[in-house]
Amino acid sequence: QLYNQVQDLKGAIRVYCRVKPFLHEQSDDHSTVDYIGENGNIMIVNRHKQGKDARKMFSFNKVFGGNTTQEQIYVDTQPLIRSVLDGYNVCIFAYGQTGSGKTYTMSGPDITTKETWGVNYRALRDLFQLTETRKAFIKYEVGVQMIEIYNEQVRDLLVIDGSNRRLDIRNNSQLNGLNVPDASLVSVKCTQDVLDLMKIGQRNRAVGATALNERSSRSHSVLTVHIRGKEVVSGSMLKGCLHLVDLAGSERVDKSEATGDRLKEAQHINKSLSALGDVISALAQKSTHIPYRNSKLTQVLQDSLGGHAKTLMFVHINPETNAIGETISTLKFAERVA
Ligand code: ADP
Ligand code: MG
Repeated sequence: QLYNQVQDLKGAIRVYCRVKPFLHEQSDDHSTVDYIGENGNIMIVNRHKQGKDARKMFSFNKVFGGNTTQEQIYVDTQPLIRSVLDGYNVCIFAYGQTGSGKTYTMSGPDITTKETWGVNYRALRDLFQLTETRKAFIKYEVGVQMIEIYNEQVRDLLVIDGSNRRLDIRNNSQLNGLNVPDASLVSVKCTQDVLDLMKIGQRNRAVGATALNERSSRSHSVLTVHIRGKEVVSGSMLKGCLHLVDLAGSERVDKSEATGDRLKEAQHINKSLSALGDVISALAQKSTHIPYRNSKLTQVLQDSLGGHAKTLMFVHINPETNAIGETISTLKFAERVA
């Protein structure tokens, strides 16, 4: 009964489009966003083209313009986040080319400024507040994992000693979302615990960044919040998990220019993003075969994609003229999964 209600209210797969603020009002560059309509429509204009071919409309569950605040974004994400405490598995993705605002949406520009916190800090703060108000009825435990997937290898971002071990994925429904059982699972009690962990995670990501510049744009980071609840009176247990995924940049790499490691990275990113698109669109079409096995990312998230799980994809676009090619391909990707 509860399942049906939540399902109806929130739907299983939603796609939100967020437009980065356009910063060239004073110059002769023009935004490629012609207008944002009601009901999740966005009209894109390609200024390199003429006539009716220049305009193309895309439709999503919601479209957020450049002046949308972090708070407004969170308001439309909150119901999904909260359903984790009722035992749902939820995945939230940030998709888009490098520089389009994925990390801004998920983390925010600056960990020390609460006003601009992104979805992940707000989600954890919200979950802690809610567990507090429910504690007379349900006792919750919250644990966090943070991993990175780079070149189809999974690494633990919460290791204290900076060790760089590759981790295995186990798809065992008994694990219920704990598909990388060897990644550190850290118990957290308050938002400050989470902030401390994020700092460790970001530092571990940055270690790679000196060796391979801007690694964060070429790897997926997955923050997973595991929830266990025990009903005080009946003693019955529930479990849910929330995956917050900052994806690698979706930009296509020119094969004639990229070589060696850069080309290999690009091929891994392409493969995993298209595998993700394939899984989500198979789920949206209620296909009987869901191709989870085609990438590490979809394997890690397997039991949080499909079934009773809920998915939200934030697709990000940069409204500058020179980004038009990536903007169109991002919106086409998103339309395929919507
Ligand atoms: P990505 O993670 O997709 O590579 P970032 O989130 O790092 O992109 O954003 C690139 C730059 O644009 C950063 O300086 C970020 O602070 C800024 N930015 C992105 N989205 C917004 C936004 N909605 N409002 C203000 N600044 C933004
Ligand atoms: Mg980023």
